[in-house]
Amino acid sequence: MDFRFTLEQEQFRESVKRFAQKNLAKGARERAHSPEYPFDVARLMAKQGLLGITIAEADGGQGGTLIDAVIAIETVAAVCPRSADVVQAGNFGPIRVVAEYGTKGQKEKYLKKLLAGESVISVGMTEPEAGSAVTDLQTTATPEGQGFRINGSKIFTTHAQYAELMLVYVRFGPGLDGIGSVLVETKGQGVRFGKPSKFMSEEEWVQTYFENAFVPAEMVVLKEGGFKKQIAGFNVERIGNTARSLALGRYAYERAREWAMQRKQFGKLLCEFQGLQWKFAEMKIKLDAGQLLLYRAAANADKGFPSADETAIAKAFCNQAGFDVANEALQVMGGLGYSQEELVEYCLRRCRGWMIAGGSIEILKNRIAEGVFERSFSQRSARG
Ligand SMILES: Cc1cc2nc3c(=O)[nH]c(=O)nc-3n(C[C@H](O)[C@H](O)[C@H](O)COP(=O)(O)OP(=O)(O)OC[C@H]3O[C@@H](n4cnc5c(N)ncnc54)[C@H](O)[C@@H]3O)c2cc1C
Repeated sequence: MDFRFTLEQEQFRESVKRFAQKNLAKGARERAHSPEYPFDVARLMAKQGLLGITIAEADGGQGGTLIDAVIAIETVAAVCPRSADVVQAGNFGPIRVVAEYGTKGQKEKYLKKLLAGESVISVGMTEPEAGSAVTDLQTTATPEGQGFRINGSKIFTTHAQYAELMLVYVRFGPGLDGIGSVLVETKGQGVRFGKPSKFMSEEEWVQTYFENAFVPAEMVVLKEGGFKKQIAGFNVERIGNTARSLALGRYAYERAREWAMQRKQFGKLLCEFQGLQWKFAEMKIKLDAGQLLLYRAAANADKGFPSADETAIAKAFCNQAGFDVANEALQVMGGLGYSQEELVEYCLRRCRGWMIAGGSIEILKNRIAEGVFERSFSQRSARG
């Protein structure tokens, strides 16, 4: 066992660092406070080979490993936290599911533009009545002619209004086995966005309504019975979420560390107070522990999908650690940490959301407990 990066990984990290410092350091604060999807950053990253890192070269990607993509997220976030979302969207999210399960036609039509940073794809799973209980989703795909009519709605979808394409979880029939997914062009007929709203992080979200929207049969990604495959792909998204939680926690920690070494009160540097030293020791322990769990899940996945259990453990730990560390870092920086002059408060707000998004900490712990006791525990009431 070796806990160090390989020479190739080190070189990759250095190249991403140089790219980020040159292109992303300037404007990092403005980007964090802008709700729009940063397509300019996406185009730059595409040129640098930072989109499609884990996607096969035959599909236009880089043919790398999941740990490479994690290195990219961490290194970008250390310079510009908001730009880490572009690494997420271009590597970990529905783009990976399309690359893995999509047809040749779907890949030819959509992947090229996505990998060039010209467009972005969202994933619509959550519905008003199906959050944690995602298999309760009610959006239907009803056969008609050479395709399907889609009816239903999705909420909280990241980047919904900036994405030309949405990977929509739908119900072809009843029960778990009735769930699959289709690609929907969001500018198409029968697709409507509701009133824009904002998360605490300032990211915008809108409810998306599908009102008899027609999708041709060739837009089906996974037919009924595809839910398990879909969730296997979604574990990649969870690794990206995990990596960003930890990376933004680390960003806040680094800012607080620098501050503690220059700010004086009572005639002493902040880092000379033991009460604050112990905070930093705790932060460091959490970051290092989270890093190991994240790297285990990502490294073991290699070029495939990560293990559900290792992903759940890493995500539950890092979501909490990222938030706790950002919170303590903010405290150490006092009024400045709480101010929008610094990105520490932004990191705190973003980390808070990841404790809910992509499988909440509680839902992940349910899964971990099933592994502990080697049995499943139904979360449903006897009647439903
Ligand atoms: C920042 C952000 C981005 C998101 N992006 C997307 C996206 O791109 N696409 C998408 O489809 N969705 C997205 N979501 C939605 C997200 O997946 C859901 O919010 C999440 O699954 C929880 O569903 P819910 O909000 O309906 O909460 P609920 O399911 O109503 O849960 C409420 C609370 O109860 C807890 N809980 C529920 N059931 C159990 C149980 N059995 N045991 C213990 N605790 C339980 C939950 O953990 C939570 O704390 C996003 C959410 C956020 C916050």
